[in-house]
Amino acid sequence: MEAGKNLLRELPSVDRLLNHPRCRALLAGASRDYVTRQCRALLDELRAAIRAGKAIETIDEESLLAKLAGRIALERGSKLTRVVNATGTILHTNLGRALLPQAAIDAAVRAGQSPVNLEYDLEKGARGKREEMVESLLRDLTGAEAASVVNNNAAAVLLGLNTLAEGREVIVSRGELIEIGGSFRIPEIMAKSGAILKEVGSTNRTHPQDYEKAIGKNTALLLKVHTSNYKIVGFSAEVSLEDMVAIGKKHNVPVMEDLGSGAIIDLSRHGLPKEPLVAERVALGADVVTFSGDKILGGPQAGLVVGRKNYLQQMNKNPLQRALRCGKLTLAALEATLRLYQQSADVAAEIPTLRAFTRSIADLEAAGARVLPALQKALGGGFHAALEDSTSQIGSGAMPTEEIPTKVIAIESANIGAERIAEHFRRAEPPIIGRIKDGRFLLDLRAVFDEKDLIPNWSKEAVSGQLSGK
Ligand SMILES: *Cc1c(COP(=O)(O)O)cnc(C)c1O
Repeated sequence: MEAGKNLLRELPSVDRLLNHPRCRALLAGASRDYVTRQCRALLDELRAAIRAGKAIETIDEESLLAKLAGRIALERGSKLTRVVNATGTILHTNLGRALLPQAAIDAAVRAGQSPVNLEYDLEKGARGKREEMVESLLRDLTGAEAASVVNNNAAAVLLGLNTLAEGREVIVSRGELIEIGGSFRIPEIMAKSGAILKEVGSTNRTHPQDYEKAIGKNTALLLKVHTSNYKIVGFSAEVSLEDMVAIGKKHNVPVMEDLGSGAIIDLSRHGLPKEPLVAERVALGADVVTFSGDKILGGPQAGLVVGRKNYLQQMNKNPLQRALRCGKLTLAALEATLRLYQQSADVAAEIPTLRAFTRSIADLEAAGARVLPALQKALGGGFHAALEDSTSQIGSGAMPTEEIPTKVIAIESANIGAERIAEHFRRAEPPIIGRIKDGRFLLDLRAVFDEKDLIPNWSKEAVSGQLSGK
């Protein structure tokens, strides 16, 4: 207790530390106010530790200033940091989903660096419409009469429901009342939109007459939801979009489809399972179709809406649209991505998401073979790394039951388990995120375009004592 009191008394004051010659470098690199707050926080922590009777190392000014410098250095870097996605889930929501094509990155940088004609009509010299540029591209790519963009697909669904059905009924099959990761649930978004959910059918089977019977005076909309992250198999029946459109026409009720991923090009041309094409859904007569910009499309986070002009006009006039609209960086990146779909001679090569989907096994195998010796060397003895067959997935709810063949590097150790190995890789600089399957740690090559990224760079601190597997 006595010793603690002495230590408390011996702690230098904030002013003393700030006026120390060694603090000059810190004050040159950051505002005085910020350094002061960091200094105060450090001293507060030390005081609390002393009071709690914890063992305190030296508290001389020099070492406190070194601690202060360390604190500030730690906060300097961005917390949102680059990681290596070796999980095998190509569109990993937790890792930020799609990687942008270079053209989209360039466009976003340009839009950030200089003024742009975001809402300015260069011909008329007057105010223009923010979504106009992507609108014509989306119309061209999907064949829809009109198009619009909001912040994400969840926002697009909310806007569609609120615009077309506030205070009225929306009929949805019980088999399509889904939840997407990150707590997007159809019944909840419906409630927030002010629309009234009218469930029909059963979990596994819904028939056309279920919709027919449910339609009444207060019906505003028939909603179809792509059950992107799960699949009902076995004794099941789903009402097709064609049938829903026919029922809607008969009763004069519009049909909206939440397509989730929504592909612009047919991935089955590349040997992948077929995900619904936006253009096909439009051609089948859906009045409004919504989908994500950063799923299979491979662009920035956005919610794309295509469909009939009168409905899109209503949506654009809704005050919610203003709250859900995208910023210029997103619109610039989206326009560039859509332009690739419109014009590129080889979209699968230029859009990283499509590139990851379509990389051949031979390509992955060659990449794995190239990196294996260096990886084994970086790991040292005690670890065994081997190239193996496995399967990747698209992720973000697209084609949940479909798996794409891939190559992985399996890493095992006689001393430590898969969880610990995964932890070590997460401590690398940049962190490498793999996956654990059947108790083994795997690095999936499919979404790693430069295999050298798989060679972990550990700081000295992380390696000493830890990687030896003790
Ligand atoms: C992913 C998904 C959403 C949510 O889209 P975000 O762009 O993440 O907001 C909504 N509905 C379906 C069917 C989805 O797959």
